[in-house]
Amino acid sequence: MDKYQVLKQYFGYDEFREGQEKLIDSILSGRDTLGIMPTGAGKSLCFQVPALLMEGITLVISPLISLMKDQVKALNEAGIHAAFLNSSLTAAQYHKALGFAAQGRYPVIYVAPERLMTEEFQDFASRTRIAMVAVDEAHCVSQWGQDFRPSYLKIVDFIRSLSNRPVVSAFTATATKEVRDDIIDILMLREPTVLTTGFDRPNLYFSVQSPKNPYATMVNFIETHPDDSGIVYCLTRKTVEEVCDRLHQDGFSVTRYHAGLSDIERRENQDEFIYDRARIMVATNAFGMGIDKSNVRYVIHYNMPKNMESYYQEAGRAGRDGEPADCLLLYRGQDVVTNQFFIDHNQDNEELDPVTRRIVAERDRERLKKMTYYCFTGDCLRSYILRYFGEYGANYCGNCSNCLTGFETVDVTEAAQAILGTVEWCRGRYGATVILETVRGSDTAKVRRYGMEQSPYYGKLPRIAVPRLRQILNFLVMEGYLTVTNDEYAVVKLTKESGRILHGAETVTMKMAKEQEAPVREKSKKSRRYGSSVSAGIEFTEEQERLFESLRGLRTEIAKKEKVPPYIVFSDKTLTHMCIVRPGNREEMLSVSGVGEHKYQKYGQAFLERIRQETAFLS
Ligand code: ADP
Ligand code: MG
Ligand code: ZN
Repeated sequence: MDKYQVLKQYFGYDEFREGQEKLIDSILSGRDTLGIMPTGAGKSLCFQVPALLMEGITLVISPLISLMKDQVKALNEAGIHAAFLNSSLTAAQYHKALGFAAQGRYPVIYVAPERLMTEEFQDFASRTRIAMVAVDEAHCVSQWGQDFRPSYLKIVDFIRSLSNRPVVSAFTATATKEVRDDIIDILMLREPTVLTTGFDRPNLYFSVQSPKNPYATMVNFIETHPDDSGIVYCLTRKTVEEVCDRLHQDGFSVTRYHAGLSDIERRENQDEFIYDRARIMVATNAFGMGIDKSNVRYVIHYNMPKNMESYYQEAGRAGRDGEPADCLLLYRGQDVVTNQFFIDHNQDNEELDPVTRRIVAERDRERLKKMTYYCFTGDCLRSYILRYFGEYGANYCGNCSNCLTGFETVDVTEAAQAILGTVEWCRGRYGATVILETVRGSDTAKVRRYGMEQSPYYGKLPRIAVPRLRQILNFLVMEGYLTVTNDEYAVVKLTKESGRILHGAETVTMKMAKEQEAPVREKSKKSRRYGSSVSAGIEFTEEQERLFESLRGLRTEIAKKEKVPPYIVFSDKTLTHMCIVRPGNREEMLSVSGVGEHKYQKYGQAFLERIRQETAFLS
């Protein structure tokens, strides 16, 4: 067999995606390999395909039990013998699995990094031919990454303990230079092939809104996606609880996830979501790493996250199957304050020395700023993201809220003058909140304490809502007309540029989201599009839509019986393709993307039968 046959027969795909083939070839030629690809790009395949072609066992190191289980399940479904070795097994199960492994039953074994240096595993490794060690989520070795795992440092000890050094491959979605260098250094990769593929995810629609009523806006959105799976990310556990309760009361199928729940409840809730029993997952950022659920159709950020890395990673959990999916961010000014608080009280940094801690906090503040700018940019959101990750983005993508609905250009000169004037009047001694309270004419303790009612600008802008004022202030900072000091007081000060506006030499216009709630996009059901190269941009007819629902129902029944998540049976993309191809026999069924030999054996007949029934009355 060659790599193409493996791809077709086991995974049911006709072609490799960008980057996959190069990475696979590199591994097969015996070179260490580092693949940096965005979430959903298909990293697993890059080590799974070579694993089936190499002489010997591939060990996959993965940080999370849930992740291993999921991938092993998917491999087994595809007819590949694979197993996992981690703490979810009893001692007897573990022993048995190792025994089978030693007999060469599994070409692919997933191992928790904590296991590698144990005596039993070392004994096994010394008696087995290990062809490759594949490190998934490799950014976990880096202290600069967001998910540092000390146990990942054991990987290199393990590799060094082997008498024959296997090929080492590593995969991550984190593209920053620090993390990439750390992976190469810490895993001691030898002259590795390093490949970064495009970070663009064309099937994701990005949108930012600053609605007056975020909850109502969110519900409005969810109601247009009644049958779809989605994730709602909140900044705090408390918000998760509130939002989840409210959605529940409003009759939505919803569950929740955050670090304050017991292990058992977390696992149960995660399963509820993965097995499509609960449609909506409301969660903090604790949820998601290792969730391979491919049919998440939308990710809503109910709050702005702390930085673009987190945002893109979390939003990227939508649409992993390549089908259209929505990423909606609901921004409000309070989010900046909350994130600032997290940065200032970061428990994780407690062990760091004061200097490093300050550097880290500064870096985090800088990243928060860039995240905030994302919420206000009038540019194409996708270009903003790609530029952030060091890629060149076209200025117009046609698939984000800025490109589609457009912002209106507003003349904010008067407001800008009042804000700058207030800063000047108090000689740059106070923070943004006091400034904004002053121009609005609020009667707060701070305003009184600092004597701000005396300012000629006091109450100058009573009609502009605080969030909008904050947008204007942020904009002035972004454009260099104001600066905010980088210490704990975050005091607002004038710059050399301020005078031009203060003295009326320049006007200030900025793009702002139109005041009304952004229009709701067409119902997703009607706009399901097949996103791949096979037949890009096809819109479903009503018949196809009905067939899709029917096949989805069949998938759910089968998944229940087999006790696997529905997307493990067939992905949304595969069902979509089936509706387009409408296969009538084995041959045609095998031509559907995602239907391999093994899955055909298991499910082919049932789906053929269902398609026959559903389309009998058509031509
Ligand atoms: P990553 O680990 O990079 O986030 P995964 O390996 O989980 O992504 O793959 C995401 C999805 O893409 C999976 O559903 C997978 O089956 C699918 N996929 C991977 N490679 C291909 C391919 N060549 N053609 C079609 N689908 C693919
Ligand atoms: Mg992965
Ligand atoms: Zn755009």
